[in-house]
Amino acid sequence: MSAFRFFITLFSLSLLSLTIEPQIIPNYIHHDCSNTSTHTSDSAYQSNLNSLLSALSALSVNATATNGFYNTTSGESPDRIYGLFLCITGFSAAICQDCVTFATKEVIQKCPLANEAVIWYDPCLLRYSNKWIFSTLAVEPSFYVCNKNSTDPDPYRINSTLTKAMNEAIIEAVSVEERFATKEAKISESKTLYSLVQCTPDLSSDDCDKGLELGMERLRNVCFGVIGAQALYPSFKVRYELYQFYGVSAPAPGPAPGPAEGPAPGPPPPGSKPKWIPIAATLSAVLGVALLSSFAFFIWRKRNSREDNKESKEVQLLDLRGGNFVKEYPNNDFQGERVEGSQEFPSIQLDIINAATKNFCNENKLGEGGFGPVYKGTLADGKEIAVKRLSRTSGQGLLEFKNEVMLIARVQHRNLVRLLGCCIEDNETLLVYEYMPNRSLDVFLFDSSMSVQLDWQRRFSIITGIARGIMYLHEDSRLRIIHRDLKTSNILLDGEMNPKISDFGMARIFNVNQSEANTNRVVGTYGYMAPEYAMRGLFSVKSDVFSFGVLLLEIISGKKNNGFYFYQRCESLLTFAWKLWSQGQAMQLMDPQLVQSCVEFEVLKCIHIGLLCVQKDPVDRPTMSSVILMLGNENLTLPRPTEPAFFVGRVVAESATPSTDNNIFSANEVTLSDVSPR
Ligand code: AMP
Repeated sequence: MSAFRFFITLFSLSLLSLTIEPQIIPNYIHHDCSNTSTHTSDSAYQSNLNSLLSALSALSVNATATNGFYNTTSGESPDRIYGLFLCITGFSAAICQDCVTFATKEVIQKCPLANEAVIWYDPCLLRYSNKWIFSTLAVEPSFYVCNKNSTDPDPYRINSTLTKAMNEAIIEAVSVEERFATKEAKISESKTLYSLVQCTPDLSSDDCDKGLELGMERLRNVCFGVIGAQALYPSFKVRYELYQFYGVSAPAPGPAPGPAEGPAPGPPPPGSKPKWIPIAATLSAVLGVALLSSFAFFIWRKRNSREDNKESKEVQLLDLRGGNFVKEYPNNDFQGERVEGSQEFPSIQLDIINAATKNFCNENKLGEGGFGPVYKGTLADGKEIAVKRLSRTSGQGLLEFKNEVMLIARVQHRNLVRLLGCCIEDNETLLVYEYMPNRSLDVFLFDSSMSVQLDWQRRFSIITGIARGIMYLHEDSRLRIIHRDLKTSNILLDGEMNPKISDFGMARIFNVNQSEANTNRVVGTYGYMAPEYAMRGLFSVKSDVFSFGVLLLEIISGKKNNGFYFYQRCESLLTFAWKLWSQGQAMQLMDPQLVQSCVEFEVLKCIHIGLLCVQKDPVDRPTMSSVILMLGNENLTLPRPTEPAFFVGRVVAESATPSTDNNIFSANEVTLSDVSPR
């Protein structure tokens, strides 16, 4: 929120207090009604909206009877409007009722004549739209708040505790009708982490799971190492703090309104007064403080934003354009080669991208990765492109951006996605790629209606293509590149379903003679991560080989390693595959969709190769060139695999290894990011 809007909001809230009944003001967090169509004040839609908001306000009285959630509609098509509210766990019914009532009034002021809006407060969220919004996962618009005052010297340790607590909370939330859960976890003797996850209860368990996983992933990227943060979405919420912000009748002071890079909120000082203030009683104080603090905030923001700008994306990226990569990427990373930076790829003007993506309209959104949303665009000459938009709230994304630009601009292979250019203008940081009409492999593989399109021949050719792409990275390109985040969502499919490896934000470059490296900060996606990497931060070409093995078993089985834990009684896909293979029943692993099209010896060979790739000891795993050889040769006798590392779905554990501080417990689909300068 801009300083000006903050000022206006505070001021109007203060003025509002002059005219309304004594009431409690809920702690406002954010609202969004941008990019929405509008209506006129005398339209049928406006009158339906008024009725809807009155109905929601009235229904909030009964919120406890409906799990703190209510949805309703008003009017008839084409002016029908859909609305809902959700009370956040831990706030009393009375507080939520006040919150909803307040929201119904404030949303109109903040979003005059907007056809769609969502507004978030600590105790509730309220939303309406001219489109169907019920029982539907909504991941846009979203908003993140990081309490940047509340960082920890060891973000890695915090991240693992946090991930474990959040995973447990998510598992619980998706299994109960109310779709919420809270979890507490000890960080140290004196510090406890409190976490909360919540979806609107009309979401299916699967959708709720997807949403909460995404929220967690984004928070861990955007607010890495920060101990207080929240991610707000239209149909779910994820939050964690070092103080108990739920289960209290009056909320503790939460985050100040503002984006992730805004002023940091903090935990409540012990014994502090609740933030909810009876207006009539404190009218003059509120007004005075509001005016003074708004003025101070206004000045502070203005000065800060100037400084932020200096140090922020633009300047850093202009550096990047000037070829300053070498400062961040030590010589040995590049074998002494001079890095040419952006001279190797064109810069594309923002106007062109805006026009191509219709100003990043929602209909053009293709998906969302750790880096931010991805949009489809069509250039004036009809050429289709995909545009990755660096999340504005992501400080960490900038490093990924540089890494990706640097790396992908320098490698070219038919199984790697092509970067066409980049754009750094105004507040935008964008990467432009060739468009992959079939999106990513996960879209097909894990959806029973889509996966029929992937018969065995196609899957085998996808497996081979991915293997070739990785082999090129490891062995054939000018550089030895470890991707570090190989997973189905990073395998894009072109019009002919050829696979192209994407997302080089996490990749690292090795000397030709270098075989492994160590990092204190593990990046990548758990579940696809080799145990030596997840546990000890050791990565090498063999950690990519491990991820390839997981990918391969997923492609054959049509099952995610993530989520397997739920459905197969605490078994991981890897141990399940191992058991079947050891018992001579490996074909049972195969996706039943493949029964008609499969070539049995190829399927068995692929399972065998998959198991060789996921062996616990990296030395035992084959190189990618051996994998290619095995895939293409019918007469080779393959070595017998040893048992894979013990994975239990979401939780990674290596039973034989003594536990260390670096032990990690994390979700499969989460990409963790290394925020340390490379
Ligand atoms: P990423 O940030 O690379 O993980 O991308 C997030 C999602 O956006 C992917 O899973 C794809 O569904 C989609 N996507 C990314 N790049 C492209 C592309 N070049 N063409 C089509 N879809 C893409």
